[in-house]
Amino acid sequence: MGEGEPDTSDAERKMRFLYALRSRGVTDGRVLTAMERIDRGQFVRGHFADRAYEDMPLPIACGQTISQPSVVGLMTQALNVQPRDTVLEVGTGSGYQAAILSQLCRRVYTVDRHRKLVAEAQHVFRNLGLVNITAFSADGSFGLPEQAPFDRIIVTAAAEDPPGPLLAQLKLGGIMVVPVGQSDTVQSLIKVTRTERGFEYEELRPVRFVPLIEGLASD
Ligand code: SAH
Repeated sequence: MGEGEPDTSDAERKMRFLYALRSRGVTDGRVLTAMERIDRGQFVRGHFADRAYEDMPLPIACGQTISQPSVVGLMTQALNVQPRDTVLEVGTGSGYQAAILSQLCRRVYTVDRHRKLVAEAQHVFRNLGLVNITAFSADGSFGLPEQAPFDRIIVTAAAEDPPGPLLAQLKLGGIMVVPVGQSDTVQSLIKVTRTERGFEYEELRPVRFVPLIEGLASD
């Protein structure tokens, strides 16, 4: 905030943030409460930190991005997380999405191919006392076979198709939300539900995510 500008109080900033979420379709009370509790400012560093309460994606380390809050809200809402659920997130990034999920379920496993991002996110989780999140550096396209199966899976990087190992690690009745499409074009957010008859696919909305890349990164 520049000198001479009126000081926006935290309460007012939070109110505007929540208003923007609601006006973009985030209406689930539990999701809104989680997003009210978790301060996005903790997950953004450097000179973008003062834009943490605007509804826009922002750059984070390793050339990645923290997603737009309304997209985080809509994806979390589509996941319909239940209090006893175990959730896998592929693409820890800043850790913000995992932190929101941690308020809604029993346990969150989150993985990222960048060790540096995982280490930074772990630090923030510790500071905020979010003890039900476990973060690993791993290639998330293979899921986490040792912790599988999962009630819910959320992928926050775009795949060309929902990765087979992730589908296989979804419990019966489970839900996966994943952006699908070629990178650098408009992708579709897909909701996959595993039923006794197989997998049901629902296209939710156009989105734009960084690509899901195979293998661990060098940092
Ligand atoms: N959910 C994050 C935003 C994620 S950006 C947040 O709340 O801030 C997408 C992330 O996916 C990036 O950090 C990128 O490193 C990671 N990623 C891409 N391909 C991956 C893969 N195969 N396995 C694990 N993480 C991957």
